[in-house]
Amino acid sequence: MSEMLRLDGVCKSYPMDEERVQVLRKVSLAVEAGEFVSIPGASGSGKSTLMNIIGCMDSADEGSYRLEGEDVFALDPRQLAALRNRKIGFIFQRYHLLPQYDVLQNVMMPLLVRGVPHGEAERLAREELAAMGLQERLKHRPNQLSGGQQQRVATGRALMGRPALLLADEPTGALDAATGREILGLFRQLNRQGHTILQITHDLTVASAAGRILHLRDGVLTSQ
Ligand code: ADP
Ligand code: MG
Repeated sequence: MSEMLRLDGVCKSYPMDEERVQVLRKVSLAVEAGEFVSIPGASGSGKSTLMNIIGCMDSADEGSYRLEGEDVFALDPRQLAALRNRKIGFIFQRYHLLPQYDVLQNVMMPLLVRGVPHGEAERLAREELAAMGLQERLKHRPNQLSGGQQQRVATGRALMGRPALLLADEPTGALDAATGREILGLFRQLNRQGHTILQITHDLTVASAAGRILHLRDGVLTSQ
């Protein structure tokens, strides 16, 4: 197996009144390509802060981060944005679909941002949406879909351009239990097909869908 990502001694704090709140404390984490890892943690434990750093959307105070061997903290903002677009697919609790665009346009978007020609982007998006069982919904707007369908569209969008890593932040948090299980089933299927998935959640049942579970407590990451 090859290494997908490695964090070593990552610390992050935020200013608060006169002091700083320490949110991540020397977090070290290695994920192999092809793994499905869950990180459950209570609200406020630092999950989203950690995801934002792994997702190249935020910097750390200390430590190092390699994504497929690349030294992420050495990159400038433009290089970071390019790396994020090329290597990472995001799935969020509230889907973050663009309400003014239909399903097909939403899924094409990451490829258009990358400069893929329109016809090619449309072909790939149609293919992905058919694989998600959404071929009958291409012209629907997000608000015309159920929560589970919206999360499928968001997952299809995250998969566009074949990112190395799928990051999911509370992906079932807005869904009822049965629909949440369906989305976790989809993640397990994607993982069997070879996708590397890192998921954070406050819910231990949701976390247990993964092949490996780590725990985040008050900014400290442990294997139990
Ligand atoms: P979780 O996702 O596990 O609920 P977060 O990573 O969002 O936790 O937040 C962890 C802690 O960091 C919380 O105490 C939160 O108040 C604090 N925090 C998060 N973002 C900021 C910020 N931009 N400025 C100040 N404090 C923040
Ligand atoms: Mg959070």
